[in-house]
Amino acid sequence: MNELARLPSVDRLLSEAALQNSLAEHGRSLITAAARAELIAAREAMQGGAALPTQAQLLDAIEEHLARRTRPRLQPVVNLTGTVLHTNLGRAVLPESVVEAIARAASAPCALEYDLASGGRGDRDDIVEALLCELTGAEAATVVNNNAAAVFLLLNTLAQKKEVVVSRGELVEIGGAFRVPDIMRRAGAKLVEVGTTNRTHRRDFEEAVHAKTALLMKVHTSNYAIEGFTAAVPEPELAQVAHANGLSFVVDLGSGTLVNLEQWGLPHEPTPKESIAAGADLVTFSGDKLLGGPQAGLLVGRRELIAKIKKNPLKRCLRVGKLTLAALEATLALYRDPERLPQRLEVLRLLTRSEQEIREQAQRLLPIWQVALASWPLLATVEPTLSQIGSGSLPVNRLPSFALVARPRGKRSGALQRLHGALRRLDPPVLGHIAEDALRLDLRCLDAQNEAVFGEHLARLDPPA
Ligand SMILES: *Cc1c(COP(=O)(O)O)cnc(C)c1O
Repeated sequence: MNELARLPSVDRLLSEAALQNSLAEHGRSLITAAARAELIAAREAMQGGAALPTQAQLLDAIEEHLARRTRPRLQPVVNLTGTVLHTNLGRAVLPESVVEAIARAASAPCALEYDLASGGRGDRDDIVEALLCELTGAEAATVVNNNAAAVFLLLNTLAQKKEVVVSRGELVEIGGAFRVPDIMRRAGAKLVEVGTTNRTHRRDFEEAVHAKTALLMKVHTSNYAIEGFTAAVPEPELAQVAHANGLSFVVDLGSGTLVNLEQWGLPHEPTPKESIAAGADLVTFSGDKLLGGPQAGLLVGRRELIAKIKKNPLKRCLRVGKLTLAALEATLALYRDPERLPQRLEVLRLLTRSEQEIREQAQRLLPIWQVALASWPLLATVEPTLSQIGSGSLPVNRLPSFALVARPRGKRSGALQRLHGALRRLDPPVLGHIAEDALRLDLRCLDAQNEAVFGEHLARLDPPA
């Protein structure tokens, strides 16, 4: 008898009790398509010599097909890479209060550009401008999609067809796509490089100034350090040179935290407040780096310059939406209570976790790690490691941490890569870092509430292929 004819029909499968939950969750169209696809696959397999699948096997295949097709492409992951602000993993994780603010703004109409006092039209920047001014000492502020956009808009508004003087030591590239000379050209400004890679002096800037100069610019060397025989011109001097010549002095800070991180034993990162106090006319920085908020580019500084920037039609192209503004307002609000910031701002909480606390966590997880790796040709240990802040905070500044580590027993093998692959197939995927012939899972970003879940996931790790 023809075995193929014994495959059930799509309608029969859809009426099975086992599929009713999925039917309610995903709707008829998706399940019909999944059932059809799996029946075709079964038929082809049988034509190739496979046996008639059981009803249970078919139902499982349909469920798996559905799970694959309906899983969001933007998947949450467990970041154990050792880089806290990882650009490829979405940078800052937002605090609960910020997530709630986003949900509120998303689920009801809000006064985004509406002045409730007068009933007239409002300006969306007003939502965060006062807070930004309070926290940075600036006169005015505006917000765009990211810091690259902030720099671009600044240059395009204030230096189109004019010259911008920058030290050769500060021609930064951030993650491949943001390069100071390229942004400058696209914004219509002419870059004038002065000084050398390691040393730039006040007179270099003074000699570069002439009729076509619009700005003196300082770019924070976010992701590298020039050491040894070096010289850079301090911000107050650059401001003096600029102002003596009737020019503006602007600073691209990149990360730009709003508080002095040294109070928690972290490396010093320059703040917008320091730059403004040093005489900068405009400062740009990111919302989702050390600031710990949503992706955004913040511009703060002199009122008339901010007003010019807001009149540029490109501002309309680069503006942020209400969800970003809701998140930014809630994030900035946390900075009004700096004492409690390490408990309330997720990024700072992760950066200030003590070595001792992470070591204890590693010791708790070690037995599970050893069991998970038992069938692998790898040694499972706990070792000290160094976390990176990431996203343009000096890579030379590392934070002591602890990691679950896997090292090949004996000769080098592809086992580390295969293990990393198996970790990435967990749900949610676990991401570590392979270097120096070891795979490390830095536990700095594994919070207490996820620790137990993480342990359960490890227990489900695939054995080596
Ligand atoms: C990160 C950074 C940028 C780009 O900021 P995004 O928010 O990623 O657009 C620009 N300049 C500096 C100095 C940076 O560190």
